[in-house]
Amino acid sequence: MGKAARNRVLVINSGSSSIKYQLLDPESSVVAASGIVERIGEDDSAIEHRAESSTTERRVAIADHTAGLRLVFETFAATGHDLEEEGVRAVGHRVVHGGEVFYRPTLIDDDVVATIADLAALAPLHNPANLAGIESARALLPGVPQVAVFDTAFFHGLPAAARTYAIDAKVAAAHGIRKYGFHGTSHEYVSGRVAELLGRDPSEVNQIVFHLGNGASASAIRGGRPVDTSMGLTPLEGLVMGTRPGDLDPGIVAHLARSAHLDIDQIDTLLNRDSGLKGLSGVNDFRELRRRIDSGDEAARLAYEVYIHRLRRYLGAYLIELGGVDAITFTAGVGENSPQVRADALAGLARFGIEVDPAANAAGDRTARRISPPDTPVAVLVVPTNEELAIARAARRVVERLD
Ligand code: ADP
Repeated sequence: MGKAARNRVLVINSGSSSIKYQLLDPESSVVAASGIVERIGEDDSAIEHRAESSTTERRVAIADHTAGLRLVFETFAATGHDLEEEGVRAVGHRVVHGGEVFYRPTLIDDDVVATIADLAALAPLHNPANLAGIESARALLPGVPQVAVFDTAFFHGLPAAARTYAIDAKVAAAHGIRKYGFHGTSHEYVSGRVAELLGRDPSEVNQIVFHLGNGASASAIRGGRPVDTSMGLTPLEGLVMGTRPGDLDPGIVAHLARSAHLDIDQIDTLLNRDSGLKGLSGVNDFRELRRRIDSGDEAARLAYEVYIHRLRRYLGAYLIELGGVDAITFTAGVGENSPQVRADALAGLARFGIEVDPAANAAGDRTARRISPPDTPVAVLVVPTNEELAIARAARRVVERLD
């Protein structure tokens, strides 16, 4: 127990009002426990903690992230994993924006904390929340190395033509304006798994990955290196998402300010929280959207059609950018669980070598699998993402260098 426990990494994904966490062994991928603290700062905050086969749920007022993480540690101890006593190898933190500065998993010290705080200008909704998790974990586990793994890192080396916005270059340089891309940990992990599943070296594979969760992004990857991605300076750009619109005419922002008299924070809220599927149909959850479509809700149907239309537009763009692909892969909540989205996204593309086998697509399997007929030129795959495992492995690689 002792040695195995000490090899484990605690992965923390700290959001504005939640902390998701997982304690796992990066070598064997075995998860010892996981859970979520929700509604931090509200009266009805709660923790749901899963260890082995049991789930512990508690509703209790949690004032801030430190109190939330303290409750996580107490719950670990009460369910057989005293983290302070057992020890953990490292804590791995998901950090959304690494800017131009961080593009590798990074050992956290006071300077790194200060720089992540500075980058909050680029990610005001995310980086402060990530930092709250980092500060709390450093205070509660002072002797344990803490590692930041950045959502933007994988896309740091995007080709200049793909990462540059066509605006005044001096303005862009002064304000760090470029395409950064997000969900990088997922795109990197999933594209690596695709090469494994195809039994080929990553350097030989051209592929497109669709990460379709509540947030959604696409990436074009040539020989293991990303050459384009749909999210931009912020996670707003690209595909239609649960509550974000994806691509918009930027003129809409000025028009809203002038005509609807919205200030910049109201526009930010409109675009981040009240747009996308939710803005069009009233709901952001895909399962609810489907129920509404099935019951004849026209707004829900239109939302779905806009979602698929955007997805296919990116598919077409990336097919051309890559000059053809070996694999197209779907991942995350919607990508892994919605056969209909996968079928509609790729419908009518047999002339490009892209086909989906209806039976393979409909199989409710939860493992990585091919859903195209075996003899078609383009492999269409479903690959469950595992950002926690990728973060844990990255954190372990960093601490191994310290030994
Ligand atoms: P995030 O991590 O971005 O919050 P997830 O990757 O967990 O999101 O994906 C959440 C989305 O996945 C929601 O829209 C949810 O409705 C959708 N989803 C989950 N399960 C299913 C399912 N069985 N069928 C269709 N959509 C699903």
